[in-house]
Amino acid sequence: MECRSDDFVATLGMFVPKRSDEYCEKHDSPKYVGKNGKAICYQCVKENVRRKDEVLAKDYLFKKRKYSLEDNSIWGDPALGKATFDSYRTKPNSEEEFNKTKALKLANQLLDRKQEFNIILSGNPGVGKSHLAASILRYVIENSEQECLFINIDEWYGAIKDSWNGGEKPKANVQKIVNADLVVIDDLGTETSMKSQLKEANDDLQGRLFSIFDRRKRTIITTNMQSTELNSMYNAKLISRMFLGINKRTQDERIIAFKNAVDKRGFL
Ligand SMILES: [Zn+2]
Repeated sequence: MECRSDDFVATLGMFVPKRSDEYCEKHDSPKYVGKNGKAICYQCVKENVRRKDEVLAKDYLFKKRKYSLEDNSIWGDPALGKATFDSYRTKPNSEEEFNKTKALKLANQLLDRKQEFNIILSGNPGVGKSHLAASILRYVIENSEQECLFINIDEWYGAIKDSWNGGEKPKANVQKIVNADLVVIDDLGTETSMKSQLKEANDDLQGRLFSIFDRRKRTIITTNMQSTELNSMYNAKLISRMFLGINKRTQDERIIAFKNAVDKRGFL
């Protein structure tokens, strides 16, 4: 008697799929009867598994970016960690609505890692600059594979100074800030070191900021300061790095100014 290999496997107690009468046109191959009695194409099964793996991998990587943003950032206000464009409410035809549209357009451009320019959000405290800046980061991690960081500069530098006296260093050091794909430097110009006029701390901070801005090509800055005030606070080399990609031609697009809120001097 002829001994078929299938019979041999069956004697070992393993499941042996039998060929069915059905045919998978997509893969131009016969279907087999699975354990549940249904005819299946093994190529289709393989593809489904691969697709599920891809979805899982994508989800995993998104969560990793989200946790990295939430955990490594220095928010100042922790609520900013959850800020999105959806939660940025605007009144119709308001300056806020106009600025939100601008920010969303820039966020879409930044989905492409090759887009290298800085963005400046300026205006008085409380007008929603930081919320919009955080929303851009959120949008970018949701729609591309980029690592983002949000750094409130006063809190960040405060932690650095505390670490000189034995305190804990900030979670994000200069190198980490340099390495991220997209970074928000929040509340530039309100650092107490810059206000205190203590030359040592002032020079140290400017040195760190220069290391960051000199090596980064895509940074979002929020500030309460006017450009003239920034010019008098920081040295010219640093200022020119902060304005990377912002010139006469691009300033309307890349500077998001809140002018209607109290201070009407405007920016630039
Ligand atoms: Zn198939």
